Amino acid sequence: MNGQTKKNKELTPTKTFLQEKVSEYIEHCIECNRCMEVCPVTKDTFTINELNLASQEGHIVPSKIKEFAFHCVQCGKCVPVCPKDIRRDHMVRYIKYKIRGKKPWGYKRYLFVKGPKLTGMRRITQQLFIRLKKLTNKDLACFMETTPGKKADVLFYPGCYIYSTKTVRQTLRLLNHIGCSYNVLGGTTTCCGAPHLLQGEFDQADDCTELLYQKIKTCDPQIILTACAECFEAIEQMKKKYTMDVEVLSVAQYLLRYQDKFPAKKIRGKITVHDSCRFPTQSPQAVAAQEVASRFGELVTSPMDQPSSCCYQWNHDSDPDNVLRQANYLAAVKKKAPTLACNCLTCYEELKKTYTDVEVIDILQLFEEALDASETIEEE
Ligand code: SF4
Ligand code: SF4
Repeated sequence: MNGQTKKNKELTPTKTFLQEKVSEYIEHCIECNRCMEVCPVTKDTFTINELNLASQEGHIVPSKIKEFAFHCVQCGKCVPVCPKDIRRDHMVRYIKYKIRGKKPWGYKRYLFVKGPKLTGMRRITQQLFIRLKKLTNKDLACFMETTPGKKADVLFYPGCYIYSTKTVRQTLRLLNHIGCSYNVLGGTTTCCGAPHLLQGEFDQADDCTELLYQKIKTCDPQIILTACAECFEAIEQMKKKYTMDVEVLSVAQYLLRYQDKFPAKKIRGKITVHDSCRFPTQSPQAVAAQEVASRFGELVTSPMDQPSSCCYQWNHDSDPDNVLRQANYLAAVKKKAPTLACNCLTCYEELKKTYTDVEVIDILQLFEEALDASETIEEE
């Protein structure tokens, strides 16, 4: 971070910041309903006025809006359509905060072992989980739940996804291949806080950010790499909050800088790149993923005839229509290409669970397959 990092002494807690924003948004909302017209999740009938009131501090949240708030995946589809630049996703996030004590089990389960300050049963379960994972993944144990001890320009931050071992091994192999000197920071105790933030657990999210910032400072990187769009967004927000001088990139974006170290070889046929909520088609991360797909296969455009390509991870199975929407999206993908490449690890992990004949891959797999193919030729 070039020694220029400084901490803003008067950091506003997320709760206070959002509470003020919500009041501002309500004042400006013209109740045109455009945000709800594009919203892809299941909802009962309610007016925008009822929704606005429910998001205000001190007002109760009616049960039909409570259910909708838990269905909300925080995809942000409601934001670009608003004529008043209102963050409806943040307003619903604030409702999630208000009703956080009534969360469905799927929400609680997802956070159960995540975070730096767990107590009681959650802490015991977290410790057992970590011990088991270290025992069963000995090659990665040195990266789990630790603070990097050396200085290196690049920090690979898999966060909680350190336990998505296939992608982590893949990434390490690719970074080693290009001769990169890097640190790794991963584990449930160094969670980026996005899972907490998206559930309305603002204090826990702020704790995660603070601890992660302290850990990142110890290795002082110039570049932080993530394979998850939520981690990416969380680190970008941390960068602003703490005025950090660091570049944040997806792993695919970084590897493309070293593309001459990979064989220029078409190893695949048609591939479509997943249009993720946080890495949408026009974003630099999506453009990088499209470039990777074109390099190693034949890139075809994403299907545009579906209400949403969301992976629906962030409502934690509370919306009964998730599976049907995922299946419809993947059926539309199938008409375009047999393979769907994801550049967000959350989307990859979620969509690959859907029973379908579309092959869902992590975009990094293409780099690895290209290496495998060239090594096979050399051996022959
Ligand atoms: S689109 Fe914007 S202005 Fe219209 S109802 Fe939604 S938040 Fe209000
Ligand atoms: S963030 Fe997505 S799911 Fe939530 S209200 Fe907006 S469009 Fe609907």
